[in-house]
Amino acid sequence: MNRREFFLTSALAGTTGSGFSGSGIPSLGAEEATPPAPVLVLPVLGLNLRLHFSVNAPLAEWRHIQQQADSSIFAGGPFRVTVRLKPMAADVVTVEVEIQREDGGSFEITSVRVTLAVPLAGIYHTYAFPSMIGQSFQPDIKGFDVWSSPVGGIPLSFLMGLNGDNVLTVGLLDQTTITRLQGQFYGGESIDETTAADYQRLGVANNNYYLSFNQLAAVEEPLQTRRHALVIFVSRQRTAWENVFTQYASWVDEQQHFQPRPGSSYALDPMWHSWYAFGEYIDSKKIEDNARLGKELGLTNIQFDAGWNSPIPYVFETEGDYHFVADRFPNFPELVARFHENGQHVFVHWSPFIMGPKCPAYSKMQDAVMQTARGKDPVFDPLRSTGDYLGKEPVLCPRTRATLDYTVECTRRMVEDYKLDGLWFDFIDSVPLRRCIAPHRHDFPSLGEGVTATLRECAETALRLNRNVVMVYRQPFANLNNKSFLTHVWPVDAPFDFNMNRREVMFMKPYANGVLTHACCTCWHRDESDQNVARHMASVVIAGVPSVSVDLVTIPESHRKIIRSWLGFYNQHRGELLHGKTAPLAFLPAAGALSIAGKTRNYIGLFETVPPLIALVEPRDEIYLINCTGERLVTNIQNLRGRFAAKIYNHLLAPVRERDLHADGELHLDMSAPDPFLLELRRA
Ligand SMILES: [Zn+2]
Repeated sequence: MNRREFFLTSALAGTTGSGFSGSGIPSLGAEEATPPAPVLVLPVLGLNLRLHFSVNAPLAEWRHIQQQADSSIFAGGPFRVTVRLKPMAADVVTVEVEIQREDGGSFEITSVRVTLAVPLAGIYHTYAFPSMIGQSFQPDIKGFDVWSSPVGGIPLSFLMGLNGDNVLTVGLLDQTTITRLQGQFYGGESIDETTAADYQRLGVANNNYYLSFNQLAAVEEPLQTRRHALVIFVSRQRTAWENVFTQYASWVDEQQHFQPRPGSSYALDPMWHSWYAFGEYIDSKKIEDNARLGKELGLTNIQFDAGWNSPIPYVFETEGDYHFVADRFPNFPELVARFHENGQHVFVHWSPFIMGPKCPAYSKMQDAVMQTARGKDPVFDPLRSTGDYLGKEPVLCPRTRATLDYTVECTRRMVEDYKLDGLWFDFIDSVPLRRCIAPHRHDFPSLGEGVTATLRECAETALRLNRNVVMVYRQPFANLNNKSFLTHVWPVDAPFDFNMNRREVMFMKPYANGVLTHACCTCWHRDESDQNVARHMASVVIAGVPSVSVDLVTIPESHRKIIRSWLGFYNQHRGELLHGKTAPLAFLPAAGALSIAGKTRNYIGLFETVPPLIALVEPRDEIYLINCTGERLVTNIQNLRGRFAAKIYNHLLAPVRERDLHADGELHLDMSAPDPFLLELRRA
């Protein structure tokens, strides 16, 4: 019996007995007026996946009516549900669920919900991917209520053990449909499992963690369809969380036919970024002065952030038009040409979908503006990190073709007319996850499909005009849905906290195969100590393509030296740093210690913790260890034998000391030097 048969037999054999049951779970809430729709219960890897369908016809109790080699069919009133379980690896399975009417007719579906209760034994950390990023990262068993869609998030929930080992990971294949992800201790109404009354009756609480994935989630128009499918990834494999994430992401990539593109010639070049240096108060002179110094220091990609295309102060009211402002940039194309002559590349910030009422394009585009039932009141959605900031400003409706045409024309102008080399995408997460009731025509059946089509067309247009064009997407929309439309994933802003910056990149690494990770632009006060500046630089060069956002003109010369030294190190090693295999060496602090295995070298970054034993999965003959944890470094590197020449470099990466070391299965390190320092180990 092959593995696939075994799995299906064991999972489905009990269908005549207690395997699948079609029982509706009666709610004990006293206020419940109508009986809830019957729930289809699927045993998967020892847990019960519960499927809740909201359709426009009465459902009856689900009955198992047919068993085929690879599928089970259930009947509930006029509907049929086909279920296919496909093992992917040990303790990893995908579940395909498809609902249609028995008569093949069209029906209306407002939501499909998957819920499950997981015993809390061994669970110490709970995340959904949208709750894992940004300042909301909390290493604890927390509830979450977050959204995933093309404007932000990945529909994936993790339940982890003490050290980040996977207990249960559940994710959806579909990245485009709006999905609400919830996790909580108490079942209650939203989860449709145990209710408060049950706790009282049973005298227990906190027995389970409850997960819920609600697709469509009734925030958009009901979907008219003849069939609706849902594919669920379930892993109970006991391995590190990032391995499961990588497996899930590879599966999504494969199913979505993701194709990595040939790399751009300047995609790995370090960036100077204007935002945390000047905010929107930028002009030709400031940028040119910084770019001139940047060139000397190794910063050759120059990012014009907000302010190049709108009056100051920068407000969303005036954002949405992508012509340069002539008062501060009298001849923008000439400026770009000068950068090109100097071997530099120019990127600009833009916010596709934002259409401020005071931007010049508004009068032309106002009919395409999205209107929700709440009119122009501030719309707050859990995923809208910018909600309080953006609040009242309109966005273009992603469902109407006029939005796509406008966005593509802006892309064309920036890449073709202005000869820009890179576009930095911002504020896509400002699109509210709500039903648009504007009187314009909707050409795309859903918000997610409209956003996806618009971003795809932007990417194709930009690449057609410049095959080297760089497209940077910020979190949370640097997600799997949009992976085909970007070249770099960029973290949530972490300007001063270089540890958070690096952690954010580590959380993106598992799904970033085939694209590049960019560190967020790091910044510091001009009076910052040299040691801390070196820690900033050490952290960003190991996280991804580095980015710096300080006024290079006014910082002390010692800071410039540190930037130059660390970018020199980065440029010498960047192929291996960016394309090597990155792994955390500690679960918490997340990315507090990490390793990268390149083709010929290993890199170890110790920032917030020093593991007593460092296991190198693929040991090389050259190892670079960055220590930012204190003067004395004591640790052991496993899987090494023989003699090594050790060289210590200071925070300016100037050599300060050399030693010979001998490894006998483990290389014991006990050394002191002012930190941060770099240790180079070469097999003698
Ligand atoms: Zn609309």
